[in-house]
Amino acid sequence: FAHMLRREASEVIKKLLFLGVLVTINQEIDTDTMVLVGNEFGTEVQVAAPRDIEAEEMLHEVVDQETLEHRAPIVTIMGHVDHGKTTLLDSIRETNVTASEAGGITQHIGAYQVEINHKKITFLDTPGHEAFTTMRARGAQVTDITVLVVAADDGVMPQTVEAINHAKAANVPIIVAVNKMDKPGANPDRVKQELTEHGLVAEEWGGDTIFVPVSALKREGIDTLLEMILLVAEVADLKASLSSRARGSVIEAQLDKGRGPVATILVQTGTLRVGDVVVAGNTFGKVRAMVNDRGRRVKEAYPSTPVEIVGLGDVPSAGDPFVVYDDERQARQVAERRAGRQRAEELGATSRVTLDDLYKQIQEGEVKDLNLILKADVHGSSEAVLGALQKIDVSGVRIRVLHTGVGAITESDILLASASNAIVIGFNVRPEPNAQRMGESEKVDVRLYRVIYNLIEEIEAALKGMLDPVY
Ligand code: GDP
Repeated sequence: FAHMLRREASEVIKKLLFLGVLVTINQEIDTDTMVLVGNEFGTEVQVAAPRDIEAEEMLHEVVDQETLEHRAPIVTIMGHVDHGKTTLLDSIRETNVTASEAGGITQHIGAYQVEINHKKITFLDTPGHEAFTTMRARGAQVTDITVLVVAADDGVMPQTVEAINHAKAANVPIIVAVNKMDKPGANPDRVKQELTEHGLVAEEWGGDTIFVPVSALKREGIDTLLEMILLVAEVADLKASLSSRARGSVIEAQLDKGRGPVATILVQTGTLRVGDVVVAGNTFGKVRAMVNDRGRRVKEAYPSTPVEIVGLGDVPSAGDPFVVYDDERQARQVAERRAGRQRAEELGATSRVTLDDLYKQIQEGEVKDLNLILKADVHGSSEAVLGALQKIDVSGVRIRVLHTGVGAITESDILLASASNAIVIGFNVRPEPNAQRMGESEKVDVRLYRVIYNLIEEIEAALKGMLDPVY
């Protein structure tokens, strides 16, 4: 670029520094910055066609449907605290280790695979809808099936409802595991009854939700649960290509004292091999070694297989996408471009939906549904607000209420809003301090109201592009 400007590289770097962009001679700068620097030197820079390696890679990837192979379903376990999510994950892991891996020592790498009837199932090891939605907020849609754990002696609880709504917002099918069946107070019919109110109707009651009674503690009903997971997976017809460029998501990552950055990744398409150059989030590197969930070194990882990889330059975040590139130069460029984009987003440019911008975003086709999360002080008022919202009729936009609940706005609400591009509405409630901070950093629009009329009026006005700006 300096050469084209007929300047010394050091001059350009100095000018960049002056503009607040810290780069070395080996780094890429984006086209907007080039235009700016050009201006500074009195040269008009025209960008003919910016080369987007990421987009080019996508284009090259027309996958032949014929070559797709079945892949294992990826399952997340959700439910209310103490209903037995962790116990269930442990009992599944310990009773159904894949035949080929029996004898290996269990490694907690963030996900594991089990085998039943010669078919594999992958479980994400971090239970709960927060982990699920945190990943989704970063762009990773990893889960194929949700197992909703409900304790038969306790029934549907607030986090049960949250979990249902998080799974629904992501369009992920739900299987209900009615747990703690060994307890004297177990009442599975009550669980079924309560869940019908949330749209989960048991098959034997004319609905299409599978309920499996289990005891995670006594390891009863586990095989039936796994068989039902396979059944739902079969209907979903989950397939992936083995031969395409490997892609997937980071499940978890940390800095290991001896090995450097270590990341557990789930391959979602293609085959990842030792020696591949990968970009994960804003970092890149060459895969030096891969270890599976049994602590064994492997050379290849297929779709739906979790592996821990070593070789990245830095620690990515859970939910970051990873892609294999042909060479390190390309990988470096993509990683740096992403880092630049992230910096720009952090500086304020945001594509999140807000009431103030809503009309413009609708006009530009960015928003088709107005997603809302509603928290209210009491059940009665949330019902009243819901009813009033349903009456709003503005052509071209549908109002979707993803979650309603009673009580303060929590971090979980903010996460769901962030992952689903939703606005959070508080009626006679406020955000918890942590949720407030998170809302600010995630740039989620949180609106607080005390009068239904004001709430409805403001949303209607926003939909019609007539919201008065607030100064
Ligand atoms: P989580 O918070 O959902 O992960 O719940 P945990 O797995 O930590 O379980 C909470 C408590 O319930 C623990 O004391 C478990 O031992 C107990 N528990 C879990 N599953 C069962 C079960 O099937 N039967 C009985 N009796 N207790 C269970």
